[in-house]
Amino acid sequence: MEFKTFPKAMAITAVVTFGVGLSFAQDVEIATWSGFRKGAASFTFDDGAPSHVTDAGPMFKKYGYKATFNLVVNWNPNWSGFQGLADEGHEIASHSNTHGNNMSGEEASSKNAIKGKINQKYGIITVAYPNCNVPNESAVLQNYIVGRICNGSWKGMGDEMGKDGPSNWAQVPATMTGAEGQLKSTNDFTGRMQKVIQSNGWAAFLTHGFQGKQNGNANYSPTDINAIDGALKWAQQNDKDIWVAPMGHVAMYLKERKASKAQASSSGSTITVQLTHNIKDNVSNYDYPLSLRVKYSGSTANVTQAGAKLESKIDGGYVYFDAVPNAGEIVIAGEGGSGPSPESSASVKSSASVPTSSATVEKSSNSFGRSSNSFGRSSNSFGRSSSSTAITSSTEALPEDPSLLSVAVFRSSDNYIVVANAQGKPITVFNSLGHVVRTTRGLGCQQKVYTGAKGMYIVKVGSRTFKTSL
Ligand SMILES: [Zn+2]
Repeated sequence: MEFKTFPKAMAITAVVTFGVGLSFAQDVEIATWSGFRKGAASFTFDDGAPSHVTDAGPMFKKYGYKATFNLVVNWNPNWSGFQGLADEGHEIASHSNTHGNNMSGEEASSKNAIKGKINQKYGIITVAYPNCNVPNESAVLQNYIVGRICNGSWKGMGDEMGKDGPSNWAQVPATMTGAEGQLKSTNDFTGRMQKVIQSNGWAAFLTHGFQGKQNGNANYSPTDINAIDGALKWAQQNDKDIWVAPMGHVAMYLKERKASKAQASSSGSTITVQLTHNIKDNVSNYDYPLSLRVKYSGSTANVTQAGAKLESKIDGGYVYFDAVPNAGEIVIAGEGGSGPSPESSASVKSSASVPTSSATVEKSSNSFGRSSNSFGRSSNSFGRSSSSTAITSSTEALPEDPSLLSVAVFRSSDNYIVVANAQGKPITVFNSLGHVVRTTRGLGCQQKVYTGAKGMYIVKVGSRTFKTSL
């Protein structure tokens, strides 16, 4: 883990410059991997198989994980199907125009062709080389943040990467799966994931089609889809340790983490954090949220960045949150602090209209959209969902406990039931049959509490009842 401390000399400068009174350096730490997980894993799929849309998409959805799909432009993949995957937060990436022996000359044109068909937040930022042959590296790096090869060991490199990533971003390794590959069974996948959890590293997998499925041109080295299903199930069970995310997203996180400075100082009960980096290229904005923790003794915290609320959690003497570098000052205010707190007039003001006003619900969902979620079991969804759908109704009489007035329940665009402003309150989610599917406690900010099958759900927060659907 990176450990960056705000130097004492700088703290003194802050006092002089800003005149904020007594100011103290604070320890702030950027997580090696999102959510302070120990290792990262990326599943990549080549050749744009029909089964990637019909089988891989639903399988990943079942576990809340996202993958990378590398398309061959001239093979005319199911563009609307892959756009659907992009809309769910998967990464769509390039695998050349023609799938020739070497894609040199198609670095920019394949990117632009896919960009014309697929709309996604970060654009087309990774490429997988056909036949594992590295094309023109400088053309790759002018257009992509990752150029993916096949097994590292085939080129005398490691198959997994360490926490600092590859030595050459134009040669990022991924291990072949399936009949012709090294990874065939669930145990093969989980073994690799265990390995990177041990080493704080990053493993990537390269899959084509699936045994017995509609694979189109992706007929090389078919993989047993149940092996991947088992791997994702294992990952979900070990989600606190393994970060499963698309190749481009892990690469952005890693590059930003290595380049970012986090500096924190405190004044009174308010801590201010600056998170900045100077990476600049023509490929990406490098605005993927980083996971941070700051030493914190308070029992409640309201974390905002540029005034917008961030999801946060207090645990073991730290406050944890995710924030976007270069996106404005981060302020952590505790109860009774000088900054906005969960009990401040802002939340009181909105509380009167929350139960019925869609405008207020929209506002909460927007602030959720720009914050992040590495504390739930979903590994993606950071900031990517810029809007959410409010679908909640609550028509009961206003509760006697005034702190329940500002509670809001809504559905995020990545299909989670989200509860807001329920600090310390018991939360129970019932399915349409009346069975309890989740019990938890409110964190005092927006938190994803449940995702599951389509249908109606009842969410009880303290004495309040909300009806919602997925
Ligand atoms: Zn291929």
